[in-house]
Amino acid sequence: MKKIAFFDTKSYDRESFDRENNGRYDIRYFETRLTAAALPLAEGCDAACAFVNAEIDRAVVEGLVKRGVKVLAMRCAGYNNVDFKAAYDSGLTVVRVPAYSPYAVAEHAAALLLTLNRHIHKAAARTRDFNFSLVGLTGFDLHGKTAGIVGTGKIGRIFANICKGFGMRVLAYDAFPNPASGLEYVSLETLLAESDIISLHCPLLPETKHTINAETLAKAKRGFTLINTSRGGLVDSEALLAALRDGTVGGAGLDVYEEESEWFYEDRSDVTRQNKTLSLLVSMPNVIVTSHQAFLTHEALANIAQTTLANLDAYFVGAPLENEICYRCLGTGGANKSDCPRRNGGRCH
Ligand code: NAD
Repeated sequence: MKKIAFFDTKSYDRESFDRENNGRYDIRYFETRLTAAALPLAEGCDAACAFVNAEIDRAVVEGLVKRGVKVLAMRCAGYNNVDFKAAYDSGLTVVRVPAYSPYAVAEHAAALLLTLNRHIHKAAARTRDFNFSLVGLTGFDLHGKTAGIVGTGKIGRIFANICKGFGMRVLAYDAFPNPASGLEYVSLETLLAESDIISLHCPLLPETKHTINAETLAKAKRGFTLINTSRGGLVDSEALLAALRDGTVGGAGLDVYEEESEWFYEDRSDVTRQNKTLSLLVSMPNVIVTSHQAFLTHEALANIAQTTLANLDAYFVGAPLENEICYRCLGTGGANKSDCPRRNGGRCH
C-alpha cells in the first residue's frame, strides 16, 4: 500500500480524508507543517500532502525526493508557497486541487462584506451583554453601489454574481479578461476610482504582489471597503493600515494576511510578542480578520479529499495528470503556456 505523509493535519482534514480514502492509502497524519525540520517524517513515503502555509522551498523539495517521495499533493488551489523550479529540477511531481468550492470562498467574501458593513460582529457582542443600543451601527445599502472585482476566475465570477444579486453595479479587472463572462472589464485605475467595494480574487504572483499599495490606494474612491479572500501578499499591510487610519479605506475584511503563516490556523493567544501590524489590524473597529477560513465548508473539505486522492490515484497508475502544475505552465493557473506537455493531455514531467 502506498504511503502518504500528511502534514499540517487538523481534525477536519482527518475526518474528510479518512471518509474518502476507504483504506486505499496508508495515510500518516502529522500535525506539523511541511518544513525542512519535518522531513524525517516523510522517510519511505511515496507521497507528501501539504497545505497553503507550508514553505516548500528547494531544501524541502530536495529533502522529500531524497526520502523517496515522488509526488507532492497540495490540498489547496493556490501554489505561491512551492518552489516549482526546484520541483521540476528534482523530478518531484506537484499536483493540486484547482477548485473545491469556489462558492465557499465567494460566500465568505460576501459574509465579510455584510458583517463589516452592518457591524454584525459588534451587534452580536453588544446584545450578549444586554446592550441593545444601535449607536455606531449604521451601515449602507449595497444596492446601487459599485463592486470592483480584481481577478475574474472561478471565485471572482461567483462573487460578481452575488454582488449583482444585491443590485450592485459590477466592474472587473483581470490581466486575462474572459469575454464570455459578460462582465464589464475596466482598467485597474477605473476600478479603483469607481468602486465602493473592492474584492481581490487573483492569484499571488510576482506581478500581483502588493496590488493594493500606497500608490493604488491613493487612486481609490475614498472610504471604500476592501475584501481580501485571495492571498495576503496582494495587499501591502502597512499601506492598508495607514489608509484605514486616514479614512482612505472605510473598512477591510481580510481572510488572508501577508505574514499569516506564523499565526493562522493555530491558537496563538498565549504569544506575548505578537506581529505588530496584525495586532493593529485586528484591534481596529472597521477591520475583520478571519484565519484563512474562506474554504472551510463541508462541501469543500469533501471535494479537497476526493480530488487529492484522485490526483494520487492518477499519478500512481500512470494516467494523465489533469491537476499537475509545473514552473513552465504557471502564470494563469493552468497549462496555458505552449511549451508545457500537459496541454496535450499528458504530464508536465
Ligand atoms: P482562478 O485561477 O479561477 O482565477 C484567477 C483569476 O485571476 C483568473 O481569471 C486570472 O486570469 C486572474 N489573474 C491572473 N493574473 C492576474 C493579474 N496579474 N491581475 C489580475 N488578475 C489576474 O482562481 P480562483 O479559483 O478563482 O481562486 C482565486 C484565488 O483565491 C486563488 O489564487 C487563491 O489564492 C485564493 N483562494 C483562497 C482561498 C481561501 O480559503 N481564502 C481558497 C481558495 C482560493
